[in-house]
Amino acid sequence: VTHVTSFAGPLGLDPFGTASAHLSAEAIDALAGLRRTLERDVEPLLAAAWQRGSLPPEILAALLPLELIVPPGVTTVEADSSLFSGFRNFVLARTDASVATLYNAQSGLFRTAIQLGGDAAQRNRLEQGIRDFSIKGAFALTEPAHGSDIAGGLETRAERAGDTWTLNGAKRWIGAAAEADLLVVFARDTADGEIKAFLVPRDAPGVRIRSIENKIALRIMPNADVELDAVLVAEADRLQQVHGWRDVSAMLARMRSGVAWIATGLQAGALEAALDYASQREQFGRPVAGFQLVQEKLARMLGNLAASLSLVIELSRHEDAGTFHDEASALSKMQTARLARETVALGREVLGGNGIVLDHRVARFFADAEAIYSYEGSHEMNALVVGRALTGLSAFR
Ligand SMILES: Cc1cc2nc3c(=O)[nH]c(=O)nc-3n(C[C@H](O)[C@H](O)[C@H](O)COP(=O)(O)OP(=O)(O)OC[C@H]3O[C@@H](n4cnc5c(N)ncnc54)[C@H](O)[C@@H]3O)c2cc1C
Repeated sequence: VTHVTSFAGPLGLDPFGTASAHLSAEAIDALAGLRRTLERDVEPLLAAAWQRGSLPPEILAALLPLELIVPPGVTTVEADSSLFSGFRNFVLARTDASVATLYNAQSGLFRTAIQLGGDAAQRNRLEQGIRDFSIKGAFALTEPAHGSDIAGGLETRAERAGDTWTLNGAKRWIGAAAEADLLVVFARDTADGEIKAFLVPRDAPGVRIRSIENKIALRIMPNADVELDAVLVAEADRLQQVHGWRDVSAMLARMRSGVAWIATGLQAGALEAALDYASQREQFGRPVAGFQLVQEKLARMLGNLAASLSLVIELSRHEDAGTFHDEASALSKMQTARLARETVALGREVLGGNGIVLDHRVARFFADAEAIYSYEGSHEMNALVVGRALTGLSAFR
């Protein structure tokens, strides 16, 4: 947007120029290309898709040629960094949180599960297909009766006989499950009581997938209920490095960092949309952007965005340096999602009545912030992880 030159960056609003400070020129080029594609090819599809509650195939078709997981010209080391994948989530969410969540289901959740949970052979077998989306995946942890208490409560069972496992149970909320080739299913080994992870083809006998309808947030992003009824999985398709909850928890810590970046990008998108509108909408003979009370809201939105960006950058720098703690990602996810909720509410106010219709972008961000507040660890559970680290006392286990 041209009217915010002093705070604009190549990847969207970025008050302290963090993208240029932390990414190579090649990485910025790749993500600026993503920004252009999103604005030109994806943005025009979003309001109708949100209204319909379904994902237009044109969205992934527009994104896949960009090879965003390891973009041409960007080194593998940088592409695999938390800073790069963070800014990728930022740029995606600046246009739409469903699109960011969908992409992140593959590049963040599924890829992380394979990278941390798979052995070398499994990683090598799947990596290229994950990068080019010829093997799409989903992360199936949450269950109908267990969300926040999944660590202790997980009920899906895995029973081994020879080299074959039998899985029985149910999962809920699983992002992109109906589109996935492989589901990473977490199940409790009936022999030792530990949580293990299994690669289950979506069309394996005994797998039933039902789309979750009637959502009021992230309507473009498909989520599903999954039933597993005596599903057979070979021992070779068990992720060999997942031995128990501790290994799942290491995956979740990385994923929370990705979601904190989504909560940050969503704020940039909401603020830019509110600015666009306030600059054009005239009342009392001048643009509402010129009124003091409106500027105060816009300034608070920018303050929230700047604070969130600073937080996620510091988080990712620690992640890349290997000095990363679970509680730091919980703190970042908690805080950015909390600020995002305030930011989108302020944006909605700035648009007046038009803030509740999809046509001006902010309404979509407003609704989507609700899902982000609760997924990947609810606000409360992330706060309790932080509280445990602060006090040494666990309030939930
Ligand atoms: C859009 C969306 C996408 C998702 N995608 C995936 C996915 O791809 N894969 C996957 O496995 N899961 C996914 N999830 C699941 C998500 O991680 C859970 O929704 C989340 O962990 C919260 O669990 P719950 O919804 O069952 O809430 P519950 O655990 O039932 O919690 C209900 C309320 O009680 C609070 N609460 C619970 N326990 C405590 C406590 N001890 N102290 C204080 N408060 C407490 C919670 O914070 C919350 O406010 C997704 C969810 C959504 C909404």
